[in-house]
Amino acid sequence: MYLLFGTKKILLIDSGATVASTSFPIRKHVEGIINRWCLNNKKQRKDLELVVAHTHNHLDHIAGDGQFQSQLYTTVVGTSVEDMSYFFKLSKWPYSIGTFALDNQRQLAIIPIPGHENASIAFYDCATGLLITGDSLLPGHLYIANFSANVDSIERLLYFIESNNLNVSAILGAHIEMTQTDKVDYPIGATYQPKERLLNLSLDHLHQLNNELQEQWKAGFDQRHKAYYDAFIVDPNPSQLPPYPSDGRMAEHGFILLPLSTLGLVWISHKPMFRTPHDFQLVFTARVTYSNLNHLLLPTNTSILQNQWTILPDLWSLNNLLNGNMTTFSAQFFIGNFEQESLNDSG
Ligand SMILES: [Zn+2]
Ligand SMILES: [Zn+2]
Repeated sequence: MYLLFGTKKILLIDSGATVASTSFPIRKHVEGIINRWCLNNKKQRKDLELVVAHTHNHLDHIAGDGQFQSQLYTTVVGTSVEDMSYFFKLSKWPYSIGTFALDNQRQLAIIPIPGHENASIAFYDCATGLLITGDSLLPGHLYIANFSANVDSIERLLYFIESNNLNVSAILGAHIEMTQTDKVDYPIGATYQPKERLLNLSLDHLHQLNNELQEQWKAGFDQRHKAYYDAFIVDPNPSQLPPYPSDGRMAEHGFILLPLSTLGLVWISHKPMFRTPHDFQLVFTARVTYSNLNHLLLPTNTSILQNQWTILPDLWSLNNLLNGNMTTFSAQFFIGNFEQESLNDSG
């Protein structure tokens, strides 16, 4: 989240990942900073408007909005393309460039960059040279929900900077997911990230990203892939990548099964190996139906795998499951590891 000050307006970019003001009092915190600023700058709060806008419409960037809605001297910009086009006067999304003035000295440019999300925008602060890119460019995974839109957006963003001869002092994203070791990220969901990579990226990184996207675009759909750079990982969503060869990885695949509820919800993990056809780690949830087992024993302590179940399905293609072309299968249940001596309980 970024809080930018002018003498007429204050801009909060993104409102956080938590709704509850008790555990995440974002408005209280922001108003505290504003009041201190007012004191230091001999301003009155009522003479300043706080505008809450967003880099994009993902829940972890907009969850705090409710705390700002219907508050005095506060405007919350909507999160849809329509709302933002209206507020920032973008007549031709995504090709228009908007402007937003914090005062006469401090102007921001608003550049639509759909791709990570439909309503993604970047903010360029003309006064400081900061380019705020949300989740579209950051030291971490650059998840791409719409590949062709993203290629176009990053190219336009770079063109906007270069054709206007703008100085970029730093590119600031919205998350840090990389370690200080090049190309190495933290596991997804990590809550402890010692030795994080620096948040700041530079114009060189925008060039790197643009070159990678342009190359993949020219190479065609079948060549599209995840790409590792020192400071970020270009990571198109599975729907944007070519499917795995159908009927590939045909085998009897073993899975570990962990019952999650008495209603048959289970967590299933493929037992991966280094060689094909088992060279894919895949974890998913599923529902057990038509079971001739009375019930699956629920583990009493999920941090220890008691009552380990494994399943051995029939012969089928793991790729078909990965591509979403297979949504059900039948399997035999084993208490313990099916590869060792264990109780076979067909289900
Ligand atoms: Zn996002
Ligand atoms: Zn995010």
